[in-house]
Amino acid sequence: CGIIGYVGPRPSQDILMSGLARLEYRGYDSAGIAVIDGEGDLGMRKRSGKLAVLREDLADRPMPDGTTGIGHTRWATHGGPTDVNAHPHLADDGKLAVIHNGIIENFSELKSELVGDGFAFRSDTDTEVAAVLLGREYAATGDMVQAFRAVVARLEGAFTLLAMHQDHPGMVVGARRNSPLVIGLGEGENFLGSDVAAFVEHTRNALAIGQDQIVVITPAGVEVTDFAGSPVEVEPFEVTWDA
Ligand code: GLU
Repeated sequence: CGIIGYVGPRPSQDILMSGLARLEYRGYDSAGIAVIDGEGDLGMRKRSGKLAVLREDLADRPMPDGTTGIGHTRWATHGGPTDVNAHPHLADDGKLAVIHNGIIENFSELKSELVGDGFAFRSDTDTEVAAVLLGREYAATGDMVQAFRAVVARLEGAFTLLAMHQDHPGMVVGARRNSPLVIGLGEGENFLGSDVAAFVEHTRNALAIGQDQIVVITPAGVEVTDFAGSPVEVEPFEVTWDA
């Protein structure tokens, strides 16, 4: 339902949590974050309920912070509002984390295929299918963008997908179809959001990503391609409303 991604020099947990708080108006039933910490390990924490539940959990049991992270508030469509069904979802290798807005219409076919191939699922969500597929494709190529291209070609429905892999700290990859995704351009840091509210407290320079496009953000810049891999121009705009 609400999505934020961050890459840059700053510890990301506060940035993710305050971005999610600004997206609260959308309504949600669960929240979660994943962070690649200073050791290069992927940490994840997710809880059903209000953001305050996640915030208290992080305060009680702190998780190592890091400068690459993704955060999600969920409005459950497939699978009840439980801790396990909350996002992020992990690929089979436990090193790749995914968040998703929307509905993957053909998830049950894809899930049967993956179960047939020996993959195990932890949740009842449509989203975990995208996570497991991304992990499988990543294992084949070692390339996150190529993995995204292969996976989005298999998905039907509506999605904004964000993912990061602990082998690629400093990189968040996103894709969208029938669901919004915007880039926030900072100085030495960049953001992704389901809307500008996710990052408006940090930057007002934004880029709207078009239908069927993939974006890679690093602290140094952003790169947008279409699903076939051709570079596309994205339109800059300035966020003018008061945040
Ligand atoms: N369909 C996904 C789920 O139920 C994502 C829902 C959302 O957009 O928050 O987990």
